[in-house]
Amino acid sequence: MNFFHSKKTQKSNRARTNQRPLFLSPPFIDASLVDGSFKKIVVLPKYVDEDEWLAVNVFEFFNYLNMFYGTVTDFCTPTNCPTMSAGPKVFAHIYYHHYEQILHLREEKQFNSLFAHFISFAKEFNLLSDKKELAPLEELITYMENNGRIS
Ligand SMILES: [Zn+2]
Repeated sequence: MNFFHSKKTQKSNRARTNQRPLFLSPPFIDASLVDGSFKKIVVLPKYVDEDEWLAVNVFEFFNYLNMFYGTVTDFCTPTNCPTMSAGPKVFAHIYYHHYEQILHLREEKQFNSLFAHFISFAKEFNLLSDKKELAPLEELITYMENNGRIS
């Protein structure tokens, strides 16, 4: 009898893999620095050139996302993460593979807020026209849309 591959172990492994991801579960799905929508802060301000607005914001999103990735990079090694199985989408990779580290560092409010801000900005300027890019986090996006964080 192989104790490591018993039916009970297989069943508990299956149950674990079928569990809802933490980032989609209360209270973490509601963690946010901001109550309400990001709509007001993503619209093009009066008298600001749209190209400059896009460039500054994309640069800032890149920097902030890079900072979050920097907090989990010690855990994102070729051994621990041989593939970025959520695709080349850094938000999705962090949500699916490093969310526990985000929670341990108590960054979930900041990370969810950055994500909602990013998606709001991308929607405002039609920057993510390929729906496949949003697919891994579609449920989170829909939840945030229904709660009014993303408009
Ligand atoms: Zn990783």
